[in-house]
Amino acid sequence: MNKILVTGGAGFLGSHLCERLVMEGRDVLCVDNYFTGTKHNVVQLLRSPRFELMRHDITFPLYVEVDQIYNLACPASPIHYQFDPVQTTKVSVHGAINMLGLAKRVKARILQASTSEVYGDPEVHPQTESYWGRVNPLGPRACYDEGKRCAETLFFDYYRQHQLDIKVVRIFNTYGPRMHPNDGRVVSNFIVQALRGENITIYGKGNQTRSFCYVDDLIDGLVRMMDTQRGFTGPVNLGNPGELSILELAEQVLRLTRSKSRIRFKPLPKDDPRQRCPDITLAGKQLKWRPKMALDDGLKETIRYFRRALRR
Ligand code: NAD
Ligand code: UDP
Ligand code: UDP
Repeated sequence: MNKILVTGGAGFLGSHLCERLVMEGRDVLCVDNYFTGTKHNVVQLLRSPRFELMRHDITFPLYVEVDQIYNLACPASPIHYQFDPVQTTKVSVHGAINMLGLAKRVKARILQASTSEVYGDPEVHPQTESYWGRVNPLGPRACYDEGKRCAETLFFDYYRQHQLDIKVVRIFNTYGPRMHPNDGRVVSNFIVQALRGENITIYGKGNQTRSFCYVDDLIDGLVRMMDTQRGFTGPVNLGNPGELSILELAEQVLRLTRSKSRIRFKPLPKDDPRQRCPDITLAGKQLKWRPKMALDDGLKETIRYFRRALRR
């Protein structure tokens, strides 16, 4: 049970996952079309005979022999997934069908990287897995939200119809080294702006909340979920329940970078969720998992990374 396929393996989360699996002695096949990921994220792994890199778009069929599949391929930042929304739905839906078809043929266990976006702009707070969500099916975020929701549906239908060995995790906002400087998500934007002395762009009043999980904690949760017994499908929330407003995040980044950047308020994008916080009781019980990294420490690590990355 050693050959593992990671789709989206050259992206932010995927590259950390590949690294962790190679370090554990697994054989990893990383598949990516480099839409938002880059070869630089995995270049250090190319020396290992356990690691293989393949350029491929998972909206097209893929015939390989593997024991496990982590399906992470999909742009995750709103500016990137809204750049080509039709492709975003395709990668979520066609991509999932292809990876499920592959898992069915080779009898592989398959894990889906779903998202807290399935809860949309939630009325239940914090969000538990039993909550069905409140998503606008017509808005600019729908290509991602509905794509990911449909992918979950497909996973559960392949489970019921074809007895596939599935695992579904719903990932909440995750940050850390190797986020792309132009990724567009809030943590990387604020840190890069602070380090460059540019204005910190807060969308809306900054009173919307998010809960940020450090990448190493998240990867640990993914691997633990993959290793649960057959029949435990999830969905399971993975995230850090420490909730704060976007304004508080901006102030924290300014303090930690000792930056003189000023805060500038910009219009709030349509359908931007007002609050987001995971209930992680299920992950605690089933995976014996909880995030360990405090936000301050995780931000310091990420700031250190961006200081180096911006000098390059
Ligand atoms: P990312 O954009 O850094 O990584 C996505 C990777 O998928 C990139 O390397 C990209 O090139 C690749 N990709 C995109 N379309 C592809 C295709 N058609 N074929 C092959 N590869 C393709 O984003 P990330 O933060 O690493 O997110 C990884 C996964 O986790 C995504 O599925 C995302 O929806 C999910 N997720 C992430 C977060 C988070 O906060 N980071 C939160 C919720 C869910
Ligand atoms: N598929 C794939 N690799 C495989 C097996 C299947 O990419 O090793 C794709 C195939 O293109 C198909 C999809 O997965 O369209 C769904 O496969 P499934 O067997 O569920 O459905 P069917 O082939 O009957 O449409
Ligand atoms: N955001 C912001 N400034 C930025 C980027 C994002 O104020 O430069 C806000 C955004 O409007 C949202 C929150 O930060 O309310 C998190 O945004 P992100 O794109 O990181 O993730 P998501 O909205 O998908 O949770």
